[in-house]
Amino acid sequence: MERFTNFTYELDGNLYLNLTSRCTNDCTFCVRNDKAEYFGHKLWLAREPSPEEVLARIPADIARYKEYVFCGFGEPTMRLDALTAIGKALKARGATVRLNTNGQAELLYGRDVSEELSLAVDKINVSLNEANAADYEKLCRPRFGQKAFASLQDFARHCAARGIETWFSVVDVIGEDKIEACRKIAQDCGVTLRVRKYIP
Ligand code: SF4
Repeated sequence: MERFTNFTYELDGNLYLNLTSRCTNDCTFCVRNDKAEYFGHKLWLAREPSPEEVLARIPADIARYKEYVFCGFGEPTMRLDALTAIGKALKARGATVRLNTNGQAELLYGRDVSEELSLAVDKINVSLNEANAADYEKLCRPRFGQKAFASLQDFARHCAARGIETWFSVVDVIGEDKIEACRKIAQDCGVTLRVRKYIP
């Protein structure tokens, strides 16, 4: 697969920050499985950028983008130090910062990382994807096995308790019964649930 250095990309009035192509999941639906690009943006990284390299691509007019979003082809929390350094710098300039994550940072680092995240991001979208641990494991094939599902709930609970606007996301194809079960999980964690339309 060809590799690129697109550390940032624009989409829907937001600027996306692409820190890594690594991930603790290997989701069956991941766009990385068969494409090097996403909405025309070539995102497989040739190397991982330093915080300075990412910040050099931020416009002088910070208000040019609605949100600055840690997302990309990999899992942004794989680069927690870079993420927090960039997020803090952006917030100091008045930006709204969002993190899209699989929620496995507590397993990855063996600790609660919500305090440092609360200094670096305003919003967190945790991909819940499924309604139970067994189905999550089948769909997302996490490196940590089934315990990833409980851990991502702890992660969301801790982030919400720190005052970060936190929500779970699922795609509507899982069906009404599972969506209802996901709603209950979200409620128990003190976060909201957002149901996205499936995009083939
Ligand atoms: S969590 Fe995201 S980046 Fe990681 S494998 Fe799943 S879809 Fe791909």
